[in-house]
Amino acid sequence: MTSQNMSTQESQGKHEVRVATIHDHNDWVNMKAREIDLDKELQLVRDLDGIMRHFRELHTFVGVSSNNIYWTRTMSPVRQILIPTVDFRYISLMNPRIISLEGDDIRCIESCGSIPGEIFVVKRKPYVFISGYTLERRYVELEYGSRDFDPGGECVLASYGNKAWIVQHEVDHLEGITIKNRGTKVNISHNLYA
Ligand SMILES: [Zn+2]
Repeated sequence: MTSQNMSTQESQGKHEVRVATIHDHNDWVNMKAREIDLDKELQLVRDLDGIMRHFRELHTFVGVSSNNIYWTRTMSPVRQILIPTVDFRYISLMNPRIISLEGDDIRCIESCGSIPGEIFVVKRKPYVFISGYTLERRYVELEYGSRDFDPGGECVLASYGNKAWIVQHEVDHLEGITIKNRGTKVNISHNLYA
């Protein structure tokens, strides 16, 4: 066993960490996340980044918010999301702020790690421009999608591979908003094809 493994086990002994769902940590999932003090909480957010990456790979999540991860190190979720960049690298963004959300509503099919087994249709914008801070405390602005994206008629698109919609889903989480609050549940027992 390496010393790194041991320290991981020690910290797991002291602090509970798990994916928060509406069934076991509904309050946590629906809570507004608090601002992060980047001068004092760098170690905290680096640790959370590692945990988010672990669960993202374990469950193949396309994005993760602090509201998805229940732990006992803070009293509430903190304003941190793990999101894909345009080249599909993943970065943690702290204290993110939506600068602009533009274009016509698009109906998107989405699921959520905190709402297991349910699927919803949610309205999203095709373009989002956000700011925030990296783990190196660098201010960044990130742009996703296109203002004049046209889905073509009344179709419903899956959000899974669309980074602009993934980002909106994760920022919603920090406000305590889930697809269950925002969307319409889809009855998955219907046959979609033939
Ligand atoms: Zn979610």
